Amino acid sequence: MSPVSYPYEAPQSQSLFDRASVVTPGGVNSPVRAFRAVGGTPRFMVSGTGPYLTDADGREYVDLVCSWGPMILGHANPAVIDAVQRAVANGTSFGTPGQGEVELAEEIVSRVAPVEQVRLVSSGTEATMSAIRLARGFTGRAKVVKFAGCYHGHVDALLAAAGSGVATFGLPDTPGVTGAQAGDTIVLPYNDLAAVEQAFAAHPGEIACVITEASPGNMGVVPPLPGFNAGLARLCRDNGALFVSDEVMTGFRVSKAGWYGLEAANEGWAPDLLTFGKVMGGGFPAAAFGGRADVMAHLAPAGPVYQAGTLSGNPVATAAGLAQLRGCTDEVYATVDKVAAEVSGLVSEALTKEGVAHRLQTAGNMFSVFFTEAPVTNYDEARTQEAYRFTAFFHAMLAEGVYLPPSAFESWFVSATHDARAIERIAAALPAAARAAAAATAQPTPSPRSS
Ligand code: PLP
Repeated sequence: MSPVSYPYEAPQSQSLFDRASVVTPGGVNSPVRAFRAVGGTPRFMVSGTGPYLTDADGREYVDLVCSWGPMILGHANPAVIDAVQRAVANGTSFGTPGQGEVELAEEIVSRVAPVEQVRLVSSGTEATMSAIRLARGFTGRAKVVKFAGCYHGHVDALLAAAGSGVATFGLPDTPGVTGAQAGDTIVLPYNDLAAVEQAFAAHPGEIACVITEASPGNMGVVPPLPGFNAGLARLCRDNGALFVSDEVMTGFRVSKAGWYGLEAANEGWAPDLLTFGKVMGGGFPAAAFGGRADVMAHLAPAGPVYQAGTLSGNPVATAAGLAQLRGCTDEVYATVDKVAAEVSGLVSEALTKEGVAHRLQTAGNMFSVFFTEAPVTNYDEARTQEAYRFTAFFHAMLAEGVYLPPSAFESWFVSATHDARAIERIAAALPAAARAAAAATAQPTPSPRSS
């Protein structure tokens, strides 16, 4: 696929990938895992401890993906494992209400002030899909505003990221999503409040909600400009629409109360609905959406908007999530912030030393590198980067035992267990990776995809 040479073999992973490719489309159960954006053999992992992953060939990696965000306490955290083992011993699913779901809901409500009520689901996709349905049911309106480059899971109506410009109607990004499903989706450029204002003016009384990543990490890390989220909240309120803040990635990761806690808590505005996933599941399939009690009251069985799930509030998943959230103390967030600052600083230093044009962007303890000099504030700008340099950088890091997201358009994640040894290993891998990025030559830019 590209002239990047892969400096070592991974025979067991290759053999598993060959077998997987026979029985599973593309050999993976979520597209980015296939390494298509960077080429080479996806690593099949067999275990994880703290900041490390071990693959099927017995090689150990410092993990800078952390399961795409969830593993904030590191892999195999003893308190989470213990809670899971105790829960499993009591049975794995009852299809009835249980104490664990009450406690997890209480934990979420106590952390994020605008969440008065919460409904548990099993994936971030389910959370955003249900939030959109609820917003439409509550307002009696059909249209949804989303931003190019923001990923909200594989919800039909939200898989329309194509087309920038004011009030561009979404074109489906994938076969299987019909024009009708995406036709009520208005895709706007991120960080552009004027575009949102114009959309409301062009569609009076028609927009049910604006959904945005609280701080986007799915086009690489592109934080909201000061006042952008507050402006969205204001425009929604003024126009009778709901403001849905997708905190699936940022929730309980960038602070105890997620991005809301970092940005909004002291500013006097709040989203109407928020969605959560990743960290709150402790590595298990648990997610949620919640917000204003008067809006949530429209959800069945309290209200008419239907939403359900056989495994929603699963006792093992809720036990894992609860143990993880209880383990996410102020000290944990301080450590994760410090590790993120240290690692991102080292990356930038190594690239600067080799004269590689780059931009290190951060949002709390999430960060990513764009191989471009100009600030990146939206999806179009993100796509101007020299992504081929990332490919060379990625493989050089992998060869030295550092596992990065296999795409230039993803956030990197660290955990509270990334200690001095792990950071030293990253530091040791960086000079060669920076040289590889400097020496890389242009390849067709792979298209950004999400996890
Ligand atoms: N929303 C955001 C912001 C995400 O980053 C993701 C996944 O990466 C989702 C929603 C979808 O979550 P899931 O993959 O659990 O369906």
